[in-house]
Amino acid sequence: MDVSTPLRELPGVGESRAKGLEKLGLRTAGDLVGYLPRSYEDRRQVYAIAEAPVGEPCCVRVMAAEEPRRMHIRRGLDVTRLKVVDGASAMLVTFFNQGYVRQALHRGEEYILYGRVELMGGHRQMTNPQFEEAERPWACGRILPVYPLTAGITNHLLAGLVERALHTLPPPAETLPQALLEQHHLAPAADCWRSIHFPADETALEAARRRFAFEELFYLSLGLALLRERRSQGRGPVFGETGLEDFYKLLPFTLTGAQKRALEEAAADLALPRPMNRLVQGDVGSGKTAVAAGCAWLAVRSGWQCAMMAPTEILAEQHAKTLSAMLSPAGIEVGLLTGSMRAAEKRKVLSALETGALPFVVGTHALLSQGVAFRRLGLVITDEQHRFGVEQRAALAAKANTPKDPPQAGRRLCGEGGGDSLPPAADKITKGCPGAACRAGEVEQRAALAAKAGGEEDFSPNVLVMSATPIPRTLALIIYGDLDVSVIDELPPGRMPVKTVLVGESKRQRMYGFVRDQVKEGRQVYIVCPAVEENPEGAWDLKAVTEYARVLAEQVFPDLRVGLVHGRMKAREKEAAMAAFTAGETHILVSTTVIEVGVDVPNASLIIIENADRYGLSQLHQLRGRVGRGSHQSWCVLVSDNRSPDTRARLKVLTQTNDGFKIAEEDLKLRGPGDFFGARQHGLPALRVADLETDTRVLREAQDAAAGLLAADPGLELPEHRPLLERVRRLFAEDPDRFN
Ligand code: ADP
Ligand code: MG
Repeated sequence: MDVSTPLRELPGVGESRAKGLEKLGLRTAGDLVGYLPRSYEDRRQVYAIAEAPVGEPCCVRVMAAEEPRRMHIRRGLDVTRLKVVDGASAMLVTFFNQGYVRQALHRGEEYILYGRVELMGGHRQMTNPQFEEAERPWACGRILPVYPLTAGITNHLLAGLVERALHTLPPPAETLPQALLEQHHLAPAADCWRSIHFPADETALEAARRRFAFEELFYLSLGLALLRERRSQGRGPVFGETGLEDFYKLLPFTLTGAQKRALEEAAADLALPRPMNRLVQGDVGSGKTAVAAGCAWLAVRSGWQCAMMAPTEILAEQHAKTLSAMLSPAGIEVGLLTGSMRAAEKRKVLSALETGALPFVVGTHALLSQGVAFRRLGLVITDEQHRFGVEQRAALAAKANTPKDPPQAGRRLCGEGGGDSLPPAADKITKGCPGAACRAGEVEQRAALAAKAGGEEDFSPNVLVMSATPIPRTLALIIYGDLDVSVIDELPPGRMPVKTVLVGESKRQRMYGFVRDQVKEGRQVYIVCPAVEENPEGAWDLKAVTEYARVLAEQVFPDLRVGLVHGRMKAREKEAAMAAFTAGETHILVSTTVIEVGVDVPNASLIIIENADRYGLSQLHQLRGRVGRGSHQSWCVLVSDNRSPDTRARLKVLTQTNDGFKIAEEDLKLRGPGDFFGARQHGLPALRVADLETDTRVLREAQDAAAGLLAADPGLELPEHRPLLERVRRLFAEDPDRFN
């Protein structure tokens, strides 16, 4: 057997098993070694019957005291039983529907059973244990790997094949430079492959796990660093020579220290001839829009166009309105582009963008469509970034053309003297692999597409990403590893923390009374129902939401004005409903989660979230962020009759803290990183070993290692670094399935 031997040629693998293995991505003997266990069973200790811990899986050495007896109970249920003994005690072993046991176990023979010992009326017993002959144990007496499986492939089969492959094949080549292994005290690959499958003990397993986690994070960091490096050498538009003081005068409020800091950090980037790639992260209500406005103002003042992309039409419309109010006194017109606009309106905006007459456009992903072209796109802003794939950010950036004419008089053209060519390494990343742009993951695409923009390869616009999702630090380092980060860690003054309560159905009437009280005081109220657009499982259908709104309007609050908004409404209706609420014409807005992101109506002081248990904590926090935006005491009522202690504990977190970061950490703990953003959000290679929650230290080390390596050899051009570059390229480009 060698690494390329097809699995079908291995003993014990027939046609159907080979098919099953292929489903797991296993084709050759070499694949087996790279197939990682998802967990382990510690079967090292083998107990006597009386010593075995009750209720935990363990190995017990016994002798069959009788031939197994098979009893037919009823159709579809038969039971095979036997008594087993050791020197000191006895117990009963029961197998359900496993008739073959009669042929496999024999009186007087010794076996090792693996399973849970249970107490029944003071007697020990086991049900459906695994078993093997005590003379030739294979699974017991060691730490056994547990692999992800598929129908027809048992764990024993797979573990056996892996073990054989480990024995027979030459050890896989080392994939990290020797110097790194020494510097970071990492075990060599050959040892680690053995230990990750069949560890001798916990120490060996931890060493192997740490090494592979490091390796994954190292290559990921290296790739992201190369992308960042590439961009820092590219040419971007320069927005210089304009003090922000004039912008500050446009605002109806004074920026907080944190807002100012974020804006100044961005302005410093924008004044340089390299493109900005900055993430502004701030909890809901921290005032990110003003920072975006400042950047847009700088862009337009320097003769460039700005495009801002929002995830929903409601939000795009709201931004267009807010920004227009803010910037029009400075003579900056703000346009709107959404998919549902009338064709004639759209055409007007499109042509104004193309001629450069419109300096600033806010829109949905309609901005990405083919007909959209800019005269001099210099700044791309995406709001609530986690709702966009990185590739969408890239697609918008790709609309930036190298300017064909100089921007308005007196302003400097972008980056004279900026690099003329890509740094060699990045060049290889984006171009070394044919078809990279269409097949690669999103981060890769962003680079590739940006590089394609305009006539000159290395021109990219400035990019500002705004995220309201407080992302746990480890995760942010991964997802935004290629961006510089500003954090707005301060709320505008005068905000009172939202008070959050969790109530059951029994409180419904009192809750409606509270709605009435708030409205009497001049406030407004959101009532949110889970509906199909966000939450397919167990969601209300839109009919139910519409019906609920009708009942509220006609029966519960006949004297109040109740509006309704959901994602499937026509844009015009949606707009009208939002406008009426914003203007204070409706008292109560019944809605689906379309209001989750960014909607800003400071007079709203109460949000009621129906079936709150259906949402993740971070999403609830986002929803809650719709209130507490003005100077009134605000409330969030979570309605749930779910009695599960886990669910209640989860929801309680929200009643106890308003700190988005804490909530995000909790969410990550409860749901794991895979679910954190829902499916397909960040577009980075999946991590197989590294655990973002616990491997913070390893991640730091890996990032330092990547940075150190690139400092010494920025293009990874040394012959000994060739394999590293190859590996990064494959990681970022090769297998689309690896990008989730
Ligand atoms: P988010 O960070 O959630 O996008 P917004 O930009 O929508 O927050 O701002 C939330 C609200 O706070 C808006 O009504 C905005 O006008 C207001 N706001 C923003 N910055 C300040 C400030 N420095 N002082 C007072 N109010 C502010
Ligand atoms: Mg916002």
